[in-house]
Amino acid sequence: MADPVLRLSGIRKSYQSGDSELEVLHGIDLTLQRGEFAALIGPSGSGKSTLLNLIGLLDRPSGGHLFIDGDETSTLPEGEITRLRGQRIGFVFQHHLLIPAFTALENVMMPLLVDRGRPDAAMRERAAALLAGVGLADRANHPASKLSGGQQQRVAIARALAMRPALVLADEPTGNLDTHTADDIFALLREVNQREGTSFLIVTHDPRLAARCDRIVELVDGSIVSDRPHAETPG
Ligand code: ADP
Ligand code: MG
Repeated sequence: MADPVLRLSGIRKSYQSGDSELEVLHGIDLTLQRGEFAALIGPSGSGKSTLLNLIGLLDRPSGGHLFIDGDETSTLPEGEITRLRGQRIGFVFQHHLLIPAFTALENVMMPLLVDRGRPDAAMRERAAALLAGVGLADRANHPASKLSGGQQQRVAIARALAMRPALVLADEPTGNLDTHTADDIFALLREVNQREGTSFLIVTHDPRLAARCDRIVELVDGSIVSDRPHAETPG
């Protein structure tokens, strides 16, 4: 178990508000082991998205230490941060943020293209395999804008996995979907977790979905108030 994909120690985040500082995360300690499938819950405004953005290296903490795959990130230059984010972390947001005019395949290829600079056959093959993995082999050449909400979120998941990230961060990935589609998408995340050993940290409002995670971390007013393994781990 001593193989954390993520370790936070005393993470703080403040925002400037007028001439005063407002602290929204008050010293977060959190370790996520490789292969863990964890939910992050808490009331609206408790700091879940702020925390996910820090972990995803989209924003910098005001204090504390953040390790991704053993690398301490606070001292890394911007270029290294960008590289680490691109190679080790996958993102799935509530809104899929696909490029609407691009095909499903092209959207999934994007992270590979950003990493390697120009498209090649191996990249297309990898993207096609990822789409097959999320049940969309027959939609590869459809523009993203022509897909249903659930299909678009599947494409976003395939895209998040393109670089074989150690950690996938999902911010209310099913928040925009009907219950049935949300269940399917959640099951897909779980399947990826079990098949690839990818770690997941998933923000969700839905207690039903949180209950299907191995672990539930609860944030209230910028502090972790409970962090418990979930008893009935399915599968
Ligand atoms: P959650 O995702 O749990 O709903 P957020 O992380 O979005 O919560 O927000 C936590 C707190 O931080 C809220 O009070 C919010 O208003 C504040 N906040 C978030 N982003 C900013 C920002 N860019 N500037 C100032 N305050 C912010
Ligand atoms: Mg949020």
